[in-house]
Amino acid sequence: MKYDVENRRIWFKGEILNVNDAKINILAPTSQFGLNVFEGIPGYWNSDNGQLYIFRLEDHIKRLEKSMKLMQIDASYGFDEIKKAIIDTIKANEYDENISIRTTTFVDGFGSWGSSEPSDMFVAPISRGKTSAEYNKKGLNCCITSWRRIDDTVLSPRIKCGANYINSRMGQREALRNGYDTCIFLNSQGKISEGPGSCFFMIKNNKIITPKLTDSVLESITRDTVIKLALDAGLDVEERTIDRTELYVADEAFLCGSAMEITPVYSVDRYEITSEVGKITKMLHKKYLDAAMGKDKLHQDWVTGVYDL
Ligand code: PMP
Repeated sequence: MKYDVENRRIWFKGEILNVNDAKINILAPTSQFGLNVFEGIPGYWNSDNGQLYIFRLEDHIKRLEKSMKLMQIDASYGFDEIKKAIIDTIKANEYDENISIRTTTFVDGFGSWGSSEPSDMFVAPISRGKTSAEYNKKGLNCCITSWRRIDDTVLSPRIKCGANYINSRMGQREALRNGYDTCIFLNSQGKISEGPGSCFFMIKNNKIITPKLTDSVLESITRDTVIKLALDAGLDVEERTIDRTELYVADEAFLCGSAMEITPVYSVDRYEITSEVGKITKMLHKKYLDAAMGKDKLHQDWVTGVYDL
């Protein structure tokens, strides 16, 4: 049987149960201080193969483990147990559609922001509907937010922890208040970093350019994927510091991430970049979705077919 969103099965503290039966203490450090680390892992239904593919599952688990190490949260589950929990939860819901799998390790109990126990994990998949290609979404009108991106000397953007998203929220809320779709952050050096939940790329003279991993960005799996797909296509890729005004005169730009896939940026601070999806953005978008759906022969190692296991 299939489950609706409000009755879906999640993995919680070692068991698969109805989402309504998963309870944590409201005073837990995860609720009070965002003391958790997580992954949003994309899964795509490939109807030709009758298969649900999880995209770059092992890379997501490795990043979760790095975030846990940096935050000193030990969820007591090893790599293989985390992988099994994810696969078992998808199977328990019998998904045959595109999904996003939230996998979170958190500090429960009555402790403070300094506590590291009791810690545990949940895995909560949710259906995500059509891909960005099917929606035929328009591009984004972005602003440079007046809030700076957190940096490694304050709260590292390399850690995918709940608390970091308060910085994202400040930028996103400012963008929406001022009539934009989303924002791009400058880092503490005043250089381009990333979006609130995505990485930034621009294209100039057929070259793909993105900020360095030390420019206050998450070590994004989509960013890495886009770089590899661009190299496959014979494009030059540059990871370098980017100035704000370079965006205003870029040939094309896009934001990317597991949730937004590849979404074109049409304007920044009302400077128009393009009025329709640029040709390199379009080409990378198609390559990305093909890879995520297990259709790219070169990158079969990026996908895990759930119903094979
Ligand atoms: N930056 C931030 C701040 C994000 O939240 C995300 C989404 N996880 C990304 C970049 C993109 O990361 P990924 O490609 O691994 O989803």
